[in-house]
Amino acid sequence: MNRKQKKMLVRIVVSAVLLLLANLRVLPFPVRCVLYAASYGIVGWDILRKAAMGIGNGQVFDENFLMAVATLGAIALAIVERSGDFNEAVAVMLFYQIGELFQGIAVGRSRRSIGALMDIRPDYANIEDGGMLRQVDPEEVAPGSVIVIQPGERIPLDGFIVDGTSAVDTAALTGESLPRDVKAGDEVVSGCINLTGVLRVQTTRAYGESTVARILELVENSSSRKSRSENFISRFARVYTPAVVFGALALALLPPIVRLALGQDALWSVWCYRALTFLVISCPCALVISIPLGFFAGIGGASREGILVKGSNYLETLSKVKTVVFDKTGTITRGVFEVSGIHHSSLSDDKLLEYAALAECASSHPISQSLRRAYGAEPDRSRVRDIEERSGRGVLATVDGVRVAAGNDKLMDELGVPFIPCRSAGTVIHIALDGEYAGHILIADAEKDDVREALAALRAAGVEKTVMLTGDAESAAKQVAERVGIDEYRSGLLPGDKVALVEQMLEASDGRGKLAFVGDGINDAPVLSRADIGIAMGALGSDAAIEAADVVLMDDDPMKISRAIAIARKCLRIVYQNIVFALAVKLICLLLGALGLAGMWAAIFADVGVMVLAVLNAMRALNTKNL
Ligand code: ADP
Ligand code: MG
Repeated sequence: MNRKQKKMLVRIVVSAVLLLLANLRVLPFPVRCVLYAASYGIVGWDILRKAAMGIGNGQVFDENFLMAVATLGAIALAIVERSGDFNEAVAVMLFYQIGELFQGIAVGRSRRSIGALMDIRPDYANIEDGGMLRQVDPEEVAPGSVIVIQPGERIPLDGFIVDGTSAVDTAALTGESLPRDVKAGDEVVSGCINLTGVLRVQTTRAYGESTVARILELVENSSSRKSRSENFISRFARVYTPAVVFGALALALLPPIVRLALGQDALWSVWCYRALTFLVISCPCALVISIPLGFFAGIGGASREGILVKGSNYLETLSKVKTVVFDKTGTITRGVFEVSGIHHSSLSDDKLLEYAALAECASSHPISQSLRRAYGAEPDRSRVRDIEERSGRGVLATVDGVRVAAGNDKLMDELGVPFIPCRSAGTVIHIALDGEYAGHILIADAEKDDVREALAALRAAGVEKTVMLTGDAESAAKQVAERVGIDEYRSGLLPGDKVALVEQMLEASDGRGKLAFVGDGINDAPVLSRADIGIAMGALGSDAAIEAADVVLMDDDPMKISRAIAIARKCLRIVYQNIVFALAVKLICLLLGALGLAGMWAAIFADVGVMVLAVLNAMRALNTKNL
């Protein structure tokens, strides 16, 4: 409980005690009236104030207004009838406030538990300064500086290890509970915890661009992207409350007038009372609070597993996914290629590899990283000029004055260089030097271990079709597709073709069943943003993916896709349960109230009860254990 909530609790207790005292018949009547007034005033003054302010601002019809009118009306009724019984009016206000308090605590709890999941903000970075460690604000550390991270400390900035070995705990980011071993040369991302050894890390990004800052920003913004259900509820509340107020007015006026016309006793106070009860019942708090809370809890539960959902609207779309389209490299396959052969080389094999690695020195494509790894040494960038990357085809660069082209069949066709096709399975990188064909390098990529299981899990989660798109050649694509058992595949696609294909599929499905695209953000950011929902994998460290995607999977485990869908389904189920439950109870109570079968006591209990149950139900979305 925070301070405000504690104050509220004190007010509630004091008010309840005064209300009990006011019921002591031995006290003189004027004293009891003062006690009633004090009890009501202490617990309800802020509601009355907010209601008055609402009227002043022209936003008349809200819950505060309903409660103020209902309780003041009940007081007026007691005065007119000379019953001297103000219990009902005070108790309604009291219970309403108890409900509000409970709801505030629940919201605070779920916010905090998400906050704790996302408690990855580093407080400081250690800089070595004359043999001493000095703590500085991570924002002050320039990229390229060397920082020291001691065991047990959080890694404050992205970078690579220059010295030291250790194990790092990535659980807060990926949900992966096994620590990862790291050594000099490895990349580390901010937000993880250094467990065992002292690490010296050369930072590669400023704090604002580091993984941790981007994730925090993403989580903080997620509540502003509202889903259809959520918008529906706020629109609903806007028409609902005025409708209820006018309904109550009609209930207070019409029956007595009809009775008068029929020559009967009007029974004004009976109908006024029913109208007031009507107002109490109709308070839409359960809906208004439990629906955003449900989505919030769903997003929190997902992020605990390393699945970041950028808004509740995406959770809603995710729950309706029927088609999942995958990118090949880095998504279905590991994206870690091994050189498996060098053929038809007009130079020595090593020389060909050297040209390729140098030409690829600036690319972030998995292929180029593999070629650089096979080359062994850090490429000397001063030998390379005029680098031009053609996405989906390859790269062009001038190395030692020789114009090098490294890429697939398409690139060679474009340059008009005749090439020798390769019959072995794998991805082929043709090399041309100064426009002359110089042979090709064959590289092979392996599928991720659990892609087969992941595809089966997707089908179990209700996905009807899986498709693989790739810019790679037909033979490589076919081999992978058959091995993992994907429904359909298309090969030889440029990034633009992928967008066009996804658009075709979107049109064909006509909005029934949503389409998700899963990619790694390299060469496929446009598709990520064009699909109904873009899922980026292995996003730790990839800027483009975090920007373009709607759902970000922090590691590259393909099983997470079906987990994300299952979590979304559960969350939506809970939200719909709450909508139906709250509306049904309200409707029944309204009917009973209008018929005079339920009084204000029943009304306030129904209202607070529904709210408590709905909030508890919403909190279930936080739990993603047994899906
Ligand atoms: P995918 O669709 O499988 O993710 P991309 O669209 O990233 O693949 O690339 C498609 C093809 O383009 C690759 O299979 C490769 O033949 C070629 N290619 C792309 N980038 C490069 C590069 N940097 N070096 C060499 N070839 C490349
Ligand atoms: Mg790709």
